[in-house]
Amino acid sequence: MYALNSIVFSYKSSNRIIIVNFVKLQEIIQISHIKKTYVIGEETIHALKDVSVTIHKNEYVALMGPSGSGKSTLMNMLGCLDSPTSGEYILNNISVAKMSDNELAEVRNKEIGFVFQTFNLLPRASTLENVALPLVYAGFSKSEREKRAKEVLEQVGLGNRMNHKPNELSGGQRQRVAIARALVNKPAIILADEPTGNLDSKTSIEIMGLFEDIHKNGNTIILVTHEEDIALHAHRVVRLRDGLVESDLPNEKIITYKNRLETTNNQ
Ligand code: ADP
Ligand code: MG
Repeated sequence: MYALNSIVFSYKSSNRIIIVNFVKLQEIIQISHIKKTYVIGEETIHALKDVSVTIHKNEYVALMGPSGSGKSTLMNMLGCLDSPTSGEYILNNISVAKMSDNELAEVRNKEIGFVFQTFNLLPRASTLENVALPLVYAGFSKSEREKRAKEVLEQVGLGNRMNHKPNELSGGQRQRVAIARALVNKPAIILADEPTGNLDSKTSIEIMGLFEDIHKNGNTIILVTHEEDIALHAHRVVRLRDGLVESDLPNEKIITYKNRLETTNNQ
């Protein structure tokens, strides 16, 4: 796939020269013919039947589909939390099946940031400790961990909530902590499974604003949602049904945080 990178206009006496510069988009995720089968007793569940998707660096993709269509199974696969029954997954030009356990752990920790519907924060740990945790596994010193955790907490607008525990925060603030934790290792990819599923609509819009900023900073975002208005923030929509890709289309009517605020304020 190619995209227009820049158009440079320059003038040489009276002759106008137009330079058009194309760059090749970098493939970050390539899954081909992925199947995932679960066997429980006598029953075989085909969670993913034959899924092929390519995602480029800095794409913003919404993954949609009815309950049970395979969205979470696919996200677990993309996040290297689970392996497919068959098919191939190439992440950053490396076949995931060929990675050693150590390489996989490193990829999960450094390349991918996870955000979940239920936030998954440690209840007894402070905001700062929750966010700094992934850096423990990455081998940073305590002072470096705190410095980096503080930076991302400022970035998500929680600079004044460093010492609060999760139960002292609102749902939206908890999700911001979880997003800061996902960002702290500076991963290339953010995987978010129904990140607004437990939030009211105003808070959801704020969280979508945060994802918009993260996307502008260069991250690749894959976001599972069953809400059409949330999916409209993404630039491409992949729909799953019964373990198959039903459609995969660019979003022609992207909504921004600013648009959403204007419409809500006019209601
Ligand atoms: P979605 O996230 O779209 O709701 P899932 O990926 O969670 O769907 O599930 C797809 C199908 O696979 C469902 O029928 C579900 O019951 C089944 N499934 C998911 N995880 C497991 C598992 N660990 N063991 C057995 N079946 C599972
Ligand atoms: Mg799910």
